[in-house]
Amino acid sequence: MKAVYGLLIMCLFSALTAFSQRCGFDILHQKRMLSDPAYKAGIDEQQAWIRNYTRDHRNELLNAPQAALFTIPVVVHVIHTGGAVGTTYNPSDVQIQNAISYLNQVYDGTWPGTQGVGEIQINFVLATRDPACNPTSGINRINGSGLANYTAQGVNANNTTGVDEIDVKNLVRWDPYRYYNIWVVNRIDGSDGTSGSFIGGFAYFPGAPQSLDGTIMLATQMQPNRKTLPHEIGHAFSLYHPFQGASGATCPANTDCNTDGDEVCDTDPITQPVGFVCRAGNNPCTGTPYSINTESNYMNYTNCSNLFTADQKARMLAAASSVFRRGLHTSWGRSSTYPVLPFSGPSAASCTPNSSLTGTTNTIAGMMNVTVAGRNYNSATTQGDNGYVPASSCLNLIQLVPSNTYNLEMTPLAINYEQVRAWIDYDNNGLFDNATEQVFFQNDIGPPAAYTLSVNGNFTVPAWVPVNTMLRMRVVEEVSTRYGAGFAISNACYNPTYGQAEDFPVWISAAVVLPVTYRYFTVTASGKDVQIAWETGTESGSSHFSLERSADGARFTSIGQVPANGSGNGKVYRFTDPAPGAGTWFYRLRQVDIDGGYAYSSIVRVDINSVDHHGYKLMSNRVHHEIRIQFMGDPGEGPGSVRLVDLSGRILLQRSLNTRRDQLVSIDLSQLSISTGVYLLEIVNGSGRHTEKIVRE
Ligand SMILES: [Zn+2]
Repeated sequence: MKAVYGLLIMCLFSALTAFSQRCGFDILHQKRMLSDPAYKAGIDEQQAWIRNYTRDHRNELLNAPQAALFTIPVVVHVIHTGGAVGTTYNPSDVQIQNAISYLNQVYDGTWPGTQGVGEIQINFVLATRDPACNPTSGINRINGSGLANYTAQGVNANNTTGVDEIDVKNLVRWDPYRYYNIWVVNRIDGSDGTSGSFIGGFAYFPGAPQSLDGTIMLATQMQPNRKTLPHEIGHAFSLYHPFQGASGATCPANTDCNTDGDEVCDTDPITQPVGFVCRAGNNPCTGTPYSINTESNYMNYTNCSNLFTADQKARMLAAASSVFRRGLHTSWGRSSTYPVLPFSGPSAASCTPNSSLTGTTNTIAGMMNVTVAGRNYNSATTQGDNGYVPASSCLNLIQLVPSNTYNLEMTPLAINYEQVRAWIDYDNNGLFDNATEQVFFQNDIGPPAAYTLSVNGNFTVPAWVPVNTMLRMRVVEEVSTRYGAGFAISNACYNPTYGQAEDFPVWISAAVVLPVTYRYFTVTASGKDVQIAWETGTESGSSHFSLERSADGARFTSIGQVPANGSGNGKVYRFTDPAPGAGTWFYRLRQVDIDGGYAYSSIVRVDINSVDHHGYKLMSNRVHHEIRIQFMGDPGEGPGSVRLVDLSGRILLQRSLNTRRDQLVSIDLSQLSISTGVYLLEIVNGSGRHTEKIVRE
């Protein structure tokens, strides 16, 4: 990992109303921000990425179809004190499963009483594959009583009388890029959470060092309706407390809600509540009444918490997309199957690239993320991994099929201009041939933009590569040759000065039998919406379904995703396409399996005849040289515009409109050199954005 330190965020919870202790977050965070330049640099950089991504992708994140976008494999390490399973400090499997189930109900908005945004579109599963890729329950029990003072004092947060958290985490840690680690402990600062005020747990922001990343939880709080776990997971996905930046009775700054306070715009600036009281009346930080968005927020310290807000959701989804979290969703750690057990890595390569000391001690270049065949691999930069990652982990497996074409994507650190070259040793002779085995090369990747830049290219696995073989992929990365010709990655034995090299095991498998069959796939108009439903016959190894819509039955675009619901038979799925507009539409499913392969369903057509009016009426969908729109006032009056786009998304015409009642607008097409066929007309008026299908005849 790059020199990025996460925020230590400790959270205090109490069953008592008399409570005056502050959360440790402010103390530790401020101390490190002031005393540790590397910490500050890392925090500033990581927060900037999350902030920018949230800003740039807010609408698409919040408007994605209502289903989980990210499924996070969780491993729960129970650090007990020698007691039997089912005792207080060694909670049973059922208790832990129930705690994860509760977490999911909070994050999918189904926990009774949920307010706010509801579905966060991040859910959690106990890991199904351990770090050796063997089946696991995702629950791992370790006796921690051998650590001095652990039994009596547990883990330190504010105190120093117990065990340092690093010593507990070093007992057992599964790769934080492949699993989210939760350590369940007996006590924090000596308290087990059964009485008085206590710290229920603490977590780190994405970007924490691998040695620290994860959540520590009190065993007594690891159960349904104890709010520590959803709160800590909020921190794990980059949420601050809503009183971030407040000091005593002094309110947080509130000049720009994107950068001040908790950096969440739909939570008002507040001070920290005292005694877990949900406040009513006037909020002195705004002069307006307190909002449930802060007072009932899971990230606040109140006894009425039952919500996350929309902007918190956008921020969590941005964090889930960050290089520090994005590998979790595609991890083998949540796969039901694994192609080759027991796993043994590829045969030896002829050489191993070694990074220089310069490269391993300075944050100058490095690979942050590699994605191939549906597997997204976070990788440390040179500083964290000493410059070379061998192909020895089964969790890094890439599964490919001969003759198939794949995309390789790489995200460099991108603080400086960089270059990358990748090979697969198809003939398995230990050598990487530039002419026949190179799968990617690009020099001068820039301009500098930490983490935000990625490059990609396609490659095709030769048909002659034998199936059921383990091969080696090598990716070598270095600063650009614009800094000197000597930095050219001439071959796979190149020793990077500032960059690094990573090897991946590649399993060549026979064409995968399609993992899903369908019992039905129906598409029906329901008012202005389209209801899509399907039932699978058999299902195994399926990742998700991508819904695709077309105006002409030939060119399809994705309109959303639905995650697969595990293996088995007879799973029923539903999806609503809200108001695609009047006319004929075509739908199909793109079923994607966990190995990145995919298959299409049949295509189903639907006609939408009547559409609720949105304050306008299109005089005809079939046009020659003129489109005419009749505006009808309420609900549609307001600033308006219209865009005509073709099916590839190219904008052909754009203008603003008068949407007043009884206004008839004519749009002249005669000056546009467009052919006959199907086009999309996007109309914006006071009732929102609407898309109509236009057929030019
Ligand atoms: Zn907290």
